[in-house]
Amino acid sequence: MRVILLGPPGAGKGTQAATLAEKENIPHISTGDILRQHVAEATSLGQQAKSYMEAGDLVPDDLILAMIRDRLTQEDTKQRGWILDGFPRNVDQASFLEQLLWEIEQPFDYAVNLEVPDETLVTRLLQRGRDDDTETTIRRRLQVYREQTAPVIDFYRQRDRLQSVNGDRSMAEVTAALQGTLQENPSTAGK
Ligand code: ADP
Repeated sequence: MRVILLGPPGAGKGTQAATLAEKENIPHISTGDILRQHVAEATSLGQQAKSYMEAGDLVPDDLILAMIRDRLTQEDTKQRGWILDGFPRNVDQASFLEQLLWEIEQPFDYAVNLEVPDETLVTRLLQRGRDDDTETTIRRRLQVYREQTAPVIDFYRQRDRLQSVNGDRSMAEVTAALQGTLQENPSTAGK
């Protein structure tokens, strides 16, 4: 199963993706997690990405695209699939992914958008308290989301491949709803 999980910062993508990855026994590919790992290890990528992440801005595409190509061409993704969390985050990334998946012959099955209202997002992010979860960065991340990431939803909607799940519920309820969506026939997805 190959799943693209979309949604604003604080929507619970990370938690839900981890849960589903475990249940489905597929790799959870989180660009945020991969980047934080690079920052922690002070790799060249990490050093270049750090300031953008701290500001709540997107890390430039030239860094991200190489990273995702590298990850999606690793052996473990060929077996049972993957769940993508945090990518694509702008329309150029979505176009790149479309081309890459075509190249490696791994079409995705579902693009699912986790819908959560703004008030809930801010509360959740402030509670989470990760290093980049200050009020200023949160505001910036939500702005970046609206300007650059929200159009990705239309990208999949235009291709008739978008499904939506209400993420403004308890974690278990959202997991159940997501699982329900992923059991539907992908060829009828979004219809
Ligand atoms: P959140 O939980 O707020 O959605 P993530 O853990 O997904 O955050 O990402 C944290 C930060 O990593 C982002 O604010 C951004 O700077 C960077 N990042 C993650 N994924 C991408 C991406 N696909 N393109 C550009 N930057 C990214």
